[in-house]
Amino acid sequence: MLTYLPTDSTYGHEIAAWKVEFTQDVQDYTRQSYRHHLWDFEEVAEENGWARIGVVMDNLSPAESSTDQRYYGYNTARWAQGASNAEAIEEALNEAADGDGWAYGPGDTYVFDAGNPVIAAVVESLEGALSSYGYLNEERASELEDGENHPDDYTCHAGPDCGCYVQTHDHAEIFADAVDSGEIEADADEWHCLYCQEDRKITAADRKVMARIFARKWHEEIQAAGQMTVFMFVSE
Ligand SMILES: [Zn+2]
Ligand SMILES: [Zn+2]
Repeated sequence: MLTYLPTDSTYGHEIAAWKVEFTQDVQDYTRQSYRHHLWDFEEVAEENGWARIGVVMDNLSPAESSTDQRYYGYNTARWAQGASNAEAIEEALNEAADGDGWAYGPGDTYVFDAGNPVIAAVVESLEGALSSYGYLNEERASELEDGENHPDDYTCHAGPDCGCYVQTHDHAEIFADAVDSGEIEADADEWHCLYCQEDRKITAADRKVMARIFARKWHEEIQAAGQMTVFMFVSE
């Protein structure tokens, strides 16, 4: 077991000798990682009054939330997995110790009070679920991914297999509705599909649909007018 006794030889003054013990994960991690050499495990342990500090691990590296950072080669599914895991980790840690006993670690990772058996047990079960399955809440991951892929009703970043309305919309149906509502007028040559975000030529087949709809509307108007005539005749 490694015990770290910080001294400050650079400035020649004494700092409080806080004895911090690292868990094996932290020891392995600080040995391997070049990324977090500036991140100070001892300092955070001391600030929080922890005698032993651990890091929440996802397989062989710290579990990351990646909620704020969009890295190069951004992958929505991977981001949603990390973000949903982060929510579940924070929730579990908060429940274990009333919001105490953990802190944000290097990057978007989590460190915890490894001397607290309740928190240590919760972390162990989180790590077990992460290493065996990779998801702590898969439903939430899909929800986040879905939201990220559909920033509004007319956009889908998920691709043709998505199954959402943007990918599966029926032009004949949208066209007929737009003619019926008067959005597309009788003399139009083209119409705009908001889902494809493109102008579409009105074809001969579309013309037939238009003719049928206008005929029906005209018929309805005549009927309404006819009823009005009858009404006026009756009331005279
Ligand atoms: Zn979609
Ligand atoms: Zn379309």
